[in-house]
Amino acid sequence: MLGKAVHVKDDVKGTIRMLIKKGWQDNAFNQFVSDLIPFGRTLPDFREDWCKQRKSSLSLPEVTIIICFHNEAFSTLLRTIRSVLHYSHKPFLREIILVDDFSTMLHLKSRLDARIQKLPSVRLVRAKRREGLIRSRIIGAKEASTSIVLFLDSHCECTEGWLQPLIERIAENNRTVVSPVIDHIDPSTFEYVAQNPKDIQLGGFNWNLNFIWKSLPRKIAAKRKKFAAPVKTPTIAGGLFAINKDFFEHLGYYDEDFEIWGGENLELSFKVWMCGGTLEIVPCSHVGHVYRTTFPYAGARENAKRNSVRLAEVWLDDYAKYFYERIGYLKGDFGDVSQRQKLRKRLKCNTFEWYLNNVCSDMVVPNNTAARGQIYTTGSHDMCLNANASPPDGTSDVLIKPCHHQGGHQFWLYTREGRLQFDHLCLDFLFNVITLFTCRNLADTQIWLYDIKTKLMLHVNTQDCLSVVANEKNDMRPVLERCSGKKTQKWYMDNFNANNLIPVINLL
Ligand code: UDP
Ligand code: MN
Repeated sequence: MLGKAVHVKDDVKGTIRMLIKKGWQDNAFNQFVSDLIPFGRTLPDFREDWCKQRKSSLSLPEVTIIICFHNEAFSTLLRTIRSVLHYSHKPFLREIILVDDFSTMLHLKSRLDARIQKLPSVRLVRAKRREGLIRSRIIGAKEASTSIVLFLDSHCECTEGWLQPLIERIAENNRTVVSPVIDHIDPSTFEYVAQNPKDIQLGGFNWNLNFIWKSLPRKIAAKRKKFAAPVKTPTIAGGLFAINKDFFEHLGYYDEDFEIWGGENLELSFKVWMCGGTLEIVPCSHVGHVYRTTFPYAGARENAKRNSVRLAEVWLDDYAKYFYERIGYLKGDFGDVSQRQKLRKRLKCNTFEWYLNNVCSDMVVPNNTAARGQIYTTGSHDMCLNANASPPDGTSDVLIKPCHHQGGHQFWLYTREGRLQFDHLCLDFLFNVITLFTCRNLADTQIWLYDIKTKLMLHVNTQDCLSVVANEKNDMRPVLERCSGKKTQKWYMDNFNANNLIPVINLL
């Protein structure tokens, strides 16, 4: 098997088709395919030679592996457990603690109990109410009897030699928090796709407070001699990591008022760095994770936003405003954060500015822009430029929609150089379509000149003006037209400040 893809024919009918559909509905991955794959499928050894040549040590501390789950499929959960037992060298593994976060699915009741009884060193703890993944992990950590705790999602696969290099780093310094390289297990075929060590991805974040993957900055990449050596990372994805248990407690675990899913990885990442620790990715350690593209949990997005507001209130200082403007300053009821603010004070943690300067120095702080917020044209009601960064097939990636004043896909920056920027993408005109494309220096197809008097938005490359048309279905989209000054060519931008624009003369 060696982690190869399992393909199901497109034209399957009847029961199988229904089963596949149900599998996706229940899990947001292809459970039907997962069920076909043995729990104990073998995987290649993905490590670089440098990793394999390193001596094994028997004097390292033991670890507890904590796997929280809510309504996980039986096959993915069992494959996770089995891969831990198979690929972890014996002296290091004290026990696996499974935390059942109040699952309702039948296969996770007596069938799971019976299965686990047969497995050495696996223990199951069941939450008495739905806790969400954040509090479930805390429950697991508190149950652990070892100095190191290691968390995995319930749909992972460990590979040869994955455990020791993680433990080594914490044994050397108990304030180092480590993550393995997280390889992709395809949610549709369950193919195991390993990351190339030469192109290792680090964790970052954006001002929506979403976690993002980013390439190693060139300066650091150029200095690296051993591709498999541990590398510092500003943030971690958060599902798979190891930490000294006392250090985790010292940091106040996670904010226990975070609900269900989201934000806890950034909370931990920021405070590890700001409060005296180090965060690393260890390329000798490969673990696969089933990445899904949608949430299987109801209300997860609202919870995630609330968690992010709590995060911003406690850890972001003045920089919180960049997040708030992206959610239209709609903070909602985020509860009481005073205990968490006290914790930060008590630990005498560094400022967020320190974190940005010292840990995440390539992060762009959008403080010098010519405009920020909505870009809209007025008619019977205001219509906004609306980005759609990952459009479903057949739809445009920029549309014109009624303004909703909640930031998100209608939050734009008008940069000093005249770019209309959404996240890391810029409004561009390519192949006769207005589209979003990676921002590039010196691309005049991305330069827009705004005239506050006429309200026209001139596209420098074509010398045409931004305007709006409707298609047959009455969807509206942006187009370029000869400048005439008609109503649909008049644009307004929130927080426009012409003084911040670099003089046009320098630009052209
Ligand atoms: N989880 C949980 N309780 C919840 C939500 C999630 O225990 O309320 C578990 C879930 O089963 C998984 C882990 O937490 O093992 C991380 O969640 P998920 O995999 O959905 O997050 P993703 O990897 O998609 O970000
Ligand atoms: Mn997951």
